[in-house]
Amino acid sequence: MSEPTIIPDPAEPDPLAPTSVDAAVRAALAAAAEATTLEDLKAARLAHQGDRSRLALANRSIGNLPATAKAEAGKRVGAARALVAAAYAARQAELEQERDARILVDEAVDVTLPSGRRPLGRRHPVMLMSDRIADLFVGMGWEIAEGPEVEAEWFNFDALNFDVDHPARQMQDTFYVDPPGGGLVLRTHTSPVQARTLLDRGVPVYVACIGRVYRTDELDATHMPAFHQVEGLAVDSGITMAHLKGTLDRLATELFGDGITTRLRPSYFPFTEPSAEMDLRCFVCRGEDPQCRACKGIGWIEWGGCGMVNRNVLTACGVDADRYTGFAFGMGIDRALMFRTGVSDMRDMIEGDVRFDDQFGMEI
Ligand SMILES: [Zn+2]
Repeated sequence: MSEPTIIPDPAEPDPLAPTSVDAAVRAALAAAAEATTLEDLKAARLAHQGDRSRLALANRSIGNLPATAKAEAGKRVGAARALVAAAYAARQAELEQERDARILVDEAVDVTLPSGRRPLGRRHPVMLMSDRIADLFVGMGWEIAEGPEVEAEWFNFDALNFDVDHPARQMQDTFYVDPPGGGLVLRTHTSPVQARTLLDRGVPVYVACIGRVYRTDELDATHMPAFHQVEGLAVDSGITMAHLKGTLDRLATELFGDGITTRLRPSYFPFTEPSAEMDLRCFVCRGEDPQCRACKGIGWIEWGGCGMVNRNVLTACGVDADRYTGFAFGMGIDRALMFRTGVSDMRDMIEGDVRFDDQFGMEI
């Protein structure tokens, strides 16, 4: 394809005139110098070096010249185009360098800045303590049992020797499940697992049950409507109260460390006879500060109830009460966590604040 023939327009100045070429070069150099981005430079290059630029027009016009003038004009226009091309190449290099420097600054990573990493979660301290208790009993050869949280009234009360008019059965203590009179409650203690276990497995039996229980208590610093208990039941021939004391002392040592002092204090529960409360020596004041807030100056902290399994419970569960005896206990896990950590308000345990889990949700 031959180049189009340029027909000079008399109205237009001669593109090959030295003044025209010089003006085109000056305009091209000025545009290159003014370009502040690579995009600007690209547009300037198209305008001043492209096919429709004044220099390209001048170059094409050389073909129209007489042969004698072609060499001089070709040399002049060629030099002008080379000058412009060099200037654009230099400006291109400058702008690329600026861009690279800017990218280095923009994308620089300051490894000393604090990271946006999300903190690791922790297990809830109550769950950790539950696992620890389960480990202790499994280590002693016990089994871990579970029972339903929505429990039959019979397992929760009748099988455990609660009279039909026992105050614990009142609506103000127990959550009953609709419909009224349907015989279902939210279990008020983990003790129904005792009856279930005896019926399911027979004797001898050594089981611990760790779980959530419900009472209609208002939520305050020392009460929760849902809390956790560890229930223990051992039924075998020759089981005595000494076994109970030894087991609970072992549990207390596991949870609160060596040197913890315990005592059994006579008490009453329908499902154990004799029954006792187990107290821990106050480990804030060791019983020496009448003003102590932890024990209210008593020197002892109530931990849970226990006793020898009532004959009526054994009989209700089909166990020969003349041949077998057993002990049972139920200890509050949330209360144990309070003692262990010094947390004075139980509401901290259930508010879901991760700072609580961060502080107490890890054991080394
Ligand atoms: Zn105290």
